[in-house]
Amino acid sequence: MALDFGFTPEQDEFRMFVREFARREIAPHVAECDEKEQMPWHAIHKMGEAGLLGIIAPKALGGQAHDYFHLGIAVEEIARVDNSCAMICSMQNTLATLIPGWGDDTIREVIKGRQLLCIATSESEAGSDVSNMATNARIEGNEFVINGQKIHVSLMPGGTIMGVTAKVQQGDGKSAITFIRVPADAPGVSSILMPEMGVRSHQLGIVNFKDVRVPVEHVLGGRGQAKAVLYARWNVSRCLSALNALGAAQQVIDDTIEFVKKKKVYGQAIGHFQAISFPLIEHATRIESCRLMAYKGLWMNVRGENAAKVAGMAKWSSITYSIQAIFDCLQMHGAGGYLKDLGIERRYRDVIGLTFTGGTINVMKLIVVKEMLGASFMGISGGGDG
Ligand SMILES: Cc1cc2nc3c(=O)[nH]c(=O)nc-3n(C[C@H](O)[C@H](O)[C@H](O)COP(=O)(O)OP(=O)(O)OC[C@H]3O[C@@H](n4cnc5c(N)ncnc54)[C@H](O)[C@@H]3O)c2cc1C
Repeated sequence: MALDFGFTPEQDEFRMFVREFARREIAPHVAECDEKEQMPWHAIHKMGEAGLLGIIAPKALGGQAHDYFHLGIAVEEIARVDNSCAMICSMQNTLATLIPGWGDDTIREVIKGRQLLCIATSESEAGSDVSNMATNARIEGNEFVINGQKIHVSLMPGGTIMGVTAKVQQGDGKSAITFIRVPADAPGVSSILMPEMGVRSHQLGIVNFKDVRVPVEHVLGGRGQAKAVLYARWNVSRCLSALNALGAAQQVIDDTIEFVKKKKVYGQAIGHFQAISFPLIEHATRIESCRLMAYKGLWMNVRGENAAKVAGMAKWSSITYSIQAIFDCLQMHGAGGYLKDLGIERRYRDVIGLTFTGGTINVMKLIVVKEMLGASFMGISGGGDG
């Protein structure tokens, strides 16, 4: 059988395990972590204990050695409860396994939820355009000496080990962007929180590097290879971002269906009004199509195919349609949806946050343009890095 849309019984069982886990271990702390903009350490440790931070990591390092489908299922199910924890699950799994050079001991600790990896690439003048970065690393003896400032770094402050992109001068005088492993507590590193609108417990920080020294061996994936290393992860992580948004939207739609079947206005349940039921099923239709696309992207990654186009399509459409679905569901709850109690306003804020991670909506469209029309039609030189 060549085409099969079903999950295996084992994958269904795993989905139920994660759904139950998320409701039991993550849900009780979500509102408080959002309110206080506090890293969900309790959930991180529990995810580590449950094996959810090492889903795709090899067994030899303490991982589960599953494929990307299990990771997609986990992200989707955790996102039904909390997008920040789903982001953390997605980031730790993909960073640890798809970026080489962290070291086996570090990966073992990440899988247990004792160390937290993050990537610091964005700068004030280098967000979508990664090449425009100013952070540099000069070589002195057998050390890199790093200077610069990164912004919008997920899991900072709080993260323990960073992958930092920096321009390193080559022998020919030209500089190439290198991905360097830097402990967050290295002398010369300082970070402060950037208060954000959504996914508030995942935390976003400014990180300063002042003459930070690390051994030249601390390269992630080869000197001058930062872009290639980042690209290798994006085709997976963008599908996971899509599933992160879709998990939240699906949960809100499911809850709203229950609500409109009960909530009476003018003497009848509002679900009888087609101005309510039609948008609900239209959103459900778009969410279902996007979900198929996100899993198709993961399937292409499993098969070793280039998933850039599908991952880009899945990310921009899933997040856009999830935001629209959650907005309409919020309206269907009346003013109750606008209040904090139901948590729908938080889902709305959280999913907006996902638009930026790993590249904006426009950058996703540029990637699809590149794949479908050709690089010369992107309207930029060099790239659309994200
Ligand atoms: C929740 C969250 C988590 C993040 N996590 C990380 C992280 O862990 N590490 C990290 O390094 N960064 C992280 N980022 C930063 C993220 O990668 C950047 O926000 C993103 O790459 C866009 O960069 P920018 O915000 O500087 O926007 P800019 O690049 O300045 O873009 C501004 C606007 O112009 C649009 N635009 C840019 N170029 C084009 C073009 N050619 N055509 C059409 N439109 C264009 C963009 O879509 C955007 O709307 C995170 C951001 C958020 C919000």
